[in-house]
Amino acid sequence: MSQFVIDTAFVTQTLQQMVQIDSVNPGLAAGGAGEGAVATWLYEVCTALGLEVHLQETAPRRPNVIAHWAGSGGGKSLLLTGHTDVVSVENMAGDPFDGRIENGRLYGRGAYDMKGGLASILGAVAALKASGFQPAGDIWLGFVTDEEYLSIGTDALVTAIQPDAAILTEPTDVQLCIAHKGFAWLTLTTEGRAAHGSKYSEGVDAITHMQHLLKMIMTLETEIFVDDLHPLLGRNSVHASMIRGGIGLSTYPDRCTLQVEHRYLPDLQAAEIVQLWQDEIDDLTRTIPDFKGEVNLDFERPGYEILPDAPIVQTLHQAFVDVMQAEPSYMGQYAWLDSAILGHANIPTVILGPGGAGMHAAVEYVNLQDVVDCAAIIAQAAAVWVG
Ligand SMILES: [Zn+2]
Repeated sequence: MSQFVIDTAFVTQTLQQMVQIDSVNPGLAAGGAGEGAVATWLYEVCTALGLEVHLQETAPRRPNVIAHWAGSGGGKSLLLTGHTDVVSVENMAGDPFDGRIENGRLYGRGAYDMKGGLASILGAVAALKASGFQPAGDIWLGFVTDEEYLSIGTDALVTAIQPDAAILTEPTDVQLCIAHKGFAWLTLTTEGRAAHGSKYSEGVDAITHMQHLLKMIMTLETEIFVDDLHPLLGRNSVHASMIRGGIGLSTYPDRCTLQVEHRYLPDLQAAEIVQLWQDEIDDLTRTIPDFKGEVNLDFERPGYEILPDAPIVQTLHQAFVDVMQAEPSYMGQYAWLDSAILGHANIPTVILGPGGAGMHAAVEYVNLQDVVDCAAIIAQAAAVWVG
């Protein structure tokens, strides 16, 4: 059993108030409110918990909230972290920010992804404080901006602090998440030659040439990516996202662009993906008359993986057993998470958060009991980790 008692009323009220504050990511939705108001609110809550708090500007009116509980010395430090932004509320059923509670579920945009996880962090720290716990190592809270778009929040956070480990409270249905994929956005271009539709001897049709690169997607999907299976994450994948080309019915198109997205395993690098495309383009240039193509890497975020025997995973595993009286299950996430930035900044990170449904969907909710359970597990793990 955990010696830390979670204040369910505090956790519920904290979560409800957070959901009721609009923090739609302005990078994703034009006119989105941004994280400013929820940051101000978190600043006050953390200050009331007796933490030393400061705001770290990541963009105008979009600050990270960094709260610090100084240790007495000698222990390992720990970061508890999650993002404050939410995705667009377009097409949501009902009031997206009402935070209503029904049958043990709290509803609203961001309840599940991931203000539920933020409430678990606050509930854990409140329980540690209430118990009279005095940490040896530092406890840091990092409430970051912009995870749903470019992750400028965690990029900034890792320049400010260097904790010995982190727990990221993205939703995992109360499982330990130890791996997730990376993603890369590429633009493929074929060049043709514009000419009047009647001039077949002059025109080179860039759109028709794109078929060879579209075929490469099929080859990657059905031949190259099929054998490499990760036990938690499945396989590498790629899909065509957007295609553009042509300027008129009676004109040979001089250019066609295809944007593709790769989702890839932690052991693959974006540079290797680009090289696959470059090799194919080189091949096509040699073998197809008038073929001219190009690949550009527009944006990438690597995957992430931590071994089950890493100390922070073991600590969280034991805390789970102590609190839940059961063995935790382990999972991977297909989606990308900020843990990649933390991991690549040498901060070993495990992901644990509540269950619910409707991430990025029309109806979103989080299970309140899971939020409380995660708070108890995090309090127990933090106490053991920081000593
Ligand atoms: Zn999230």
